[in-house]
Amino acid sequence: DLRLLLVVRTLPWRALPGAIANPYYVYLSEVMLQQTTVPTVISYFNRFITKWPTIEAFSRATLDEILLEWQGLGYYSRAKNLKLAIEKIIKENRFPQSHEALIHYPGIGDYTSKAIASICFDQPVLPVDGNVIRVFARIFNISTPLPALKKEIIIKAEQVGAGKRPGDFAQALMDLGSLICKPKNPKCDECPLMSLCDGYKNKTYQSLPVRLEKINKPMRYGTAYVIQNHGQIIIEKRSDKGLLANLWGVPTSGWNLFLKDEKKIGNAQDKERVKHVFTHFTLYLDIHYIKIFPCEVVKLKSNQKFVTLDEIQNYALPTLMKKIVQKLDL
Ligand code: SF4
Repeated sequence: DLRLLLVVRTLPWRALPGAIANPYYVYLSEVMLQQTTVPTVISYFNRFITKWPTIEAFSRATLDEILLEWQGLGYYSRAKNLKLAIEKIIKENRFPQSHEALIHYPGIGDYTSKAIASICFDQPVLPVDGNVIRVFARIFNISTPLPALKKEIIIKAEQVGAGKRPGDFAQALMDLGSLICKPKNPKCDECPLMSLCDGYKNKTYQSLPVRLEKINKPMRYGTAYVIQNHGQIIIEKRSDKGLLANLWGVPTSGWNLFLKDEKKIGNAQDKERVKHVFTHFTLYLDIHYIKIFPCEVVKLKSNQKFVTLDEIQNYALPTLMKKIVQKLDL
């Protein structure tokens, strides 16, 4: 039984042996762990629970406050959904306990709902993430390529079952995937499942899971405007919809599929370029520096303000905008 061979490591959001897991901690950490590594998440998680020790405290935080702390984690819609879901939980005065209930909350999908339900409420379900897919593909020597493989693994996970301690099983599998059964050079000699592993026996584990060739990401292009006036620049809050919603940054043009010959605005000069890789495309922004002359009157839009480089630290900036700000020397 592979469930008996696994052990769980200690992490700040995990309950000590015999203790009950805090659903707020588990939920917060699982959302942060989507697309982000454990070492990075630990420092963010500790900052969050210091600032908002309880789910009630978190529910009182504004979106701007949350985004400010979330800076650098990326995928900012996660923070917005976290706030919406926690507000709903507080309104209902009860933390939902089953995967079937949790999946109806903003931003909570199949994986996160199963993780919370199994870890906090012992529901016998197994969350299937990239680590579990890799471990299962190797143990059962499954050569179906991704993404079709995921469905197969979910069925396999249901057949294996989560046992009497579903939370421990889920967390132990996640740990095995991230510490031992790594994508490259898995440490099979240290693996508690070596004797059960068909991929190891058949020497196929290095090539599992099978991935089809990656298609190059499309590229997009645009212009960022650094508009300066006496040691200050204009920043603006982005709309509450779409990529980087509600975050702050310098004004930009639209992001186009083709490189347009942007008309120079005002006395724009000193072109530089910033590259940023998003999940579905790579963005190149040319930076145009614009100096406002003393005689010019600037009419700011309602979502814009002038700030110094020191003051900018008080606003939630996505990594793309930080790359631009780092180039500034006002
Ligand atoms: S024996 Fe190797 S390939 Fe198989 S589960 Fe363990 S680490 Fe992964």
